[in-house]
Parts: sequence; structure tokens; C-alpha cells
Amino acid sequence: MKKPKNKRKSKTAKKKAPGIKRIGNLDFYRKKLEALRADLLKTVQKKREEALPETEVGDEGDVASRSVARDLVFELTDNEHRLLDEVEAALRRIEKGTFGYCESCVSRIKAMRLKYMPYARYCIKCQARFERS
Ligand SMILES: [Zn+2]
Repeated sequence: MKKPKNKRKSKTAKKKAPGIKRIGNLDFYRKKLEALRADLLKTVQKKREEALPETEVGDEGDVASRSVARDLVFELTDNEHRLLDEVEAALRRIEKGTFGYCESCVSRIKAMRLKYMPYARYCIKCQARFERS
């Protein structure tokens, strides 16, 4: 991917998807997402620390073969794990410039929704449609 940074043709530069504009407040959402991620990682850390003293799980081979990273992920509940995934995906969308737009219908996700769920992937309509099917 090439990013011609010094060539700014303001009239023709935006040739991606028509109608797509970067949403404002990106920094706000980025900070929110980063805080969320930090929170989740802290939760994992805490769980690990609590879990560590009682290392009488399985036999030696079992424990040794598990990597730290996998342990971390292992400690997460399904929900936390999914959330962490979503948060990281949202941060990637910020980098790509597609943050704030529904991945399905490309309409803009309402700011209210993003405020509570900055990691929202879909607009409320699409989300509802997915949940029904
Ligand atoms: Zn949508």
C-alpha cells in the first residue's frame, strides 16, 4: 500500500468509497479504545496473579507446554476475549480510516452508539438484522 503523503490533491484525493469522510473525534475514540484494552489486559493480569499460587493443575508436562501468551488468552472469559478482539479491530479501523462506518452497509454509525460502544462494527440496523438471523 502506498500512501502519497506529500501529494495532496484536495479535489481528487478522496477516491475511496464515495461519501466516506473521516469522522471527527477520532482521538477521543482511540483513547477510549486504548483505555478499554488496557483495562481488559489488567483484568487478565489480575486473574493470572490470583491463579498463580495454586499451580496444581495437571501434570508438569501440561503446564510447561503452555506458553504465557496462551495462558493470558486462556484466562479470559469468552466475553472478554471477544471484546478484546473487537477493541483491537476497532483500533485497526482507526488506522485504516474506516472507523465509525458500518462494515456491512457502510453507513455512518451514530455517535451515541460509538460513545457507548466505540468498538461497534455495525450500525444499529445491521446489528439488529444479524442478531435476528
Ligand atoms: Zn449497517
